[in-house]
Amino acid sequence: MSLLDRHRAVMPGWMPVYYGDDAIEIVSGSGRHVTGADGRTYLDFFGGVLTTMIGYDIAEISDAVRRQIGTGVAHTSTLYLIRQQVELAEKIARVSGIPDARVFFTNSGSEANESALLFAANVRRSNQILAIKNSYHGRTFATMAVTGHRSWSSSSLSPLTVNWLSSADRLRGRMAGLGAEDLLDAAVDDLREVLATVTAGDVAALIAEPIQGVGGFVHGPDGLLGAYQKVLAESGILLIADEVQTGWGRTGEHFWGYQAHGVTPDLITFAKGIGNGFALGGVVGRAEVMNAVPAISFSTFGGNPVSAAAGNAVLDYVLDHDLQGNAQRVGSILLGGLRSLDAAIVGEVRGRGLMIGIEFVRPGTTEPDPAATLRVFDRCREGGLLVGKGGLHGNVIRIGPPLTLTEEEARTGLSVLTDAITATDA
Ligand code: PMP
Repeated sequence: MSLLDRHRAVMPGWMPVYYGDDAIEIVSGSGRHVTGADGRTYLDFFGGVLTTMIGYDIAEISDAVRRQIGTGVAHTSTLYLIRQQVELAEKIARVSGIPDARVFFTNSGSEANESALLFAANVRRSNQILAIKNSYHGRTFATMAVTGHRSWSSSSLSPLTVNWLSSADRLRGRMAGLGAEDLLDAAVDDLREVLATVTAGDVAALIAEPIQGVGGFVHGPDGLLGAYQKVLAESGILLIADEVQTGWGRTGEHFWGYQAHGVTPDLITFAKGIGNGFALGGVVGRAEVMNAVPAISFSTFGGNPVSAAAGNAVLDYVLDHDLQGNAQRVGSILLGGLRSLDAAIVGEVRGRGLMIGIEFVRPGTTEPDPAATLRVFDRCREGGLLVGKGGLHGNVIRIGPPLTLTEEEARTGLSVLTDAITATDA
């Protein structure tokens, strides 16, 4: 029986696996490349799921993890003092941009957002949350409730009362042709309209991705979260920035996605890239909010010695090698190349740094074309390039490679993408 058949026989039917009957078992990796059990080597433009932020088998990270494992101590994240964890928390607090910040570690992005929602609900004594349509915040009960797409969420079972704001792309569609200022005005009107239907003072927080990730790398105008926060502050509503995809310099111009918005969030959540594949997430936020939970909040493994060792090595690597600068430089080669393509099926190329989305439409319309997207996706794989998919209608190719991507690798990937898009457009 093949591994795929065994997988299908034992895993739940909804487990997502790319490439259907041609699913890949990745057996090794080096730099920005992975090798499958089929013997083929692929350039990875999705970095796992934006998880392999530095690359595969990077000596500084593998060595740091091996050193920690070599101590024999891989136990828990709590009850004892853990040097790796404290050091990582100090670094994250320092780069967070939040004065007097506190850090709570988790194992995943879902747990990070679950915790942030819990902290906000406690400090505000309310379970009312504002969220944005087309968002993705995780797979736990509360995070699904603030996830704004039916196939990713089950908010009818929500422990929260959620009020929805229009997503940036809806606003953009509605306001087509209007400038950033008009979009910001429209977004603020939308927020005020939603707040008019609730008692604003009773709302705990707005949770928002500075650039929507799973939703297809959608972003509104710069300053959007800042414009929201001015209104939120009138009622003491907190702002949670979900930086699970946008953090650590990925967007090039800024270290955090929120910095494009002229705002400092009350809470920032992180995960994915900071572990470079090891399970690590968390919340960094204002002490007053982070300390608000009346009982102990507890994670047996969040920030455990091995994950924290990986996190320290990753963050040092990002800062020492100016990966934010690299994301900006190499990302602009990709963005420039993709934007210069003349293909009727490409509706939009958008993104920042090494977080780039290509939206596919039926030629001459804004109608999503998931079938064309799938063809491009499969053709990329045939050409030796792994990319991601996403978007509300499954019509966005997502590019989120390791931040160490070289110019040469960017050009190689760009050429595969160009061929795949051109062949599909024909
Ligand atoms: N927030 C965002 C923005 C995400 O993209 C994801 C994962 N795709 C999550 C939260 C949930 O993270 P995890 O899968 O690690 O629980």
